[in-house]
Amino acid sequence: MSTATSEACVQTTDLRRRFEALRGAARKADLSYRDRVDALRKLEQALLRRKDEIIQTISADFNGRAAEETLALDLFPTLNEIRYAVKNLKDWMTPRSVSLGWQFWPARARVQYQPLGAVGVLAAWNYPLFLGLAPVIGAIAAGNHVMLKPSELAPRSADLLASLIGELYSPEFVTVVTGDGKVAAEFSALPFDHLLFTGSTRVGRIVMRAASENLTPVTLELGGKSPALIHPDFAIQRAAESILAGKLFNAGQTCVAPDYVLVSENRLSEFLDTSQRIIARMYPRLVDNPDYTRIINAAHYRRLRELTDSALARGSQALEVNPASEACDETNRVFPPTLLSHVPDDADVMQEEIFGPILPIVTYNRLNEAIAYINARPHPLALYYFDDNSGRVRYLLDHTRAGGVTVNDCMFHVGQPCLPFGGVGPSGMGQYHGFDGFATFSKKKPVFLQSRFTTLGLMRPPYGATARRLLKFIIGR
Ligand code: NAD
Repeated sequence: MSTATSEACVQTTDLRRRFEALRGAARKADLSYRDRVDALRKLEQALLRRKDEIIQTISADFNGRAAEETLALDLFPTLNEIRYAVKNLKDWMTPRSVSLGWQFWPARARVQYQPLGAVGVLAAWNYPLFLGLAPVIGAIAAGNHVMLKPSELAPRSADLLASLIGELYSPEFVTVVTGDGKVAAEFSALPFDHLLFTGSTRVGRIVMRAASENLTPVTLELGGKSPALIHPDFAIQRAAESILAGKLFNAGQTCVAPDYVLVSENRLSEFLDTSQRIIARMYPRLVDNPDYTRIINAAHYRRLRELTDSALARGSQALEVNPASEACDETNRVFPPTLLSHVPDDADVMQEEIFGPILPIVTYNRLNEAIAYINARPHPLALYYFDDNSGRVRYLLDHTRAGGVTVNDCMFHVGQPCLPFGGVGPSGMGQYHGFDGFATFSKKKPVFLQSRFTTLGLMRPPYGATARRLLKFIIGR
């Protein structure tokens, strides 16, 4: 056996052993309400205590990430998930009485949420804290034991998560596994009671295939091309400010970032001019500016460069906004905000999810044409619509499908624990955050409580006139 193979075997055995220990503990006893609240509160305190370290670690993975982005888009939504769960957990855990049809009176029924057992979480790198911990929070709230595998593309953040979780919980309760794509593949083949994966649609298919061997239910949080549609009557300045902020937070490395924008044909040049001004105001410098986040690695940087180059080769026009004319390359990993117009539909940049600070602008003449453009493509993870007319907003909501929608802004429907989050079709399946996370990681158990005064026993064989009369009565003729 080669050294590499024997190392892989050791790793696999270790992963399996850690999983068995976790699942064994999950089978022994359910976590009480108090246990769950204590576990969540401990996490909240540790996150607050290690706030500065979190900011520095994530920034190091990105070679520079705005502290404000880590606070607003990683730390705050994570704390918000914890606080919302703690506030509502008692209510979520209380079995809910439901009313039975009169035919079954005086029996009673209720629905009880129970932990599934051992939950696996495979996370992406772009918001390493929130994407790793939000599913863990939902799984703990639901009373499960959890194994988290953060992405190898943000290795320092993965180690930080391992240290954070390791200091708070026993490895049989919540544990973090680090490693590359091979470890991730082994992880997805473990017989979890539920597996939540965040990542690309391509890897989502592989994960679902692996999980199917164990009949492990999956929640897939995937990506796709999320459009932003501006109605011709809407102020370009207002729309562009929201769209560009949504696009350029985390340098576009956001699953729900607006991927491309649909603007009416006669307002294209106004959109380009306005956007250029807004970007220059937000980021007067790119390299020498802690507000502008960098690309996660050189390979992704090259991928983005190839997307723009191939669009240019296909006749597109690119407007690169680099106000201080700084040198941006794959060494510093600063990718300038780039507006693309006149892009052919079959260019790569209009086929693949961009996941970077490039914004193609597609023009349309009539609103229905823009809606048809969206509907002719895979259901997106997010959809943004800019319009002050509530009738038209309702029309758009009724005539399009998307994982979630924000009207007159970008991304705000995400990170709200009172709203479910998840894609539809190729952008994902299932949902979590808040109660939906609790429900996703629970078995929703129906319980029927028969009464000693039931008359339904009269319908048992041998069937006679009474059973037939009773059946006629309950059927209605
Ligand atoms: P990715 O699919 O390349 O990788 C995600 C994870 O999968 C990594 O942790 C990796 O270790 C693991 N992995 C790799 N090969 C695997 C295999 N064979 N089996 C099992 N796991 C494997 O995605 P990425 O580059 O990390 O993230 C970018 C994508 O994620 C984008 O498409 C983006 O839209 C999507 N995303 C979605 C959400 C969401 O909440 N819906 C959030 C963030 C990112």
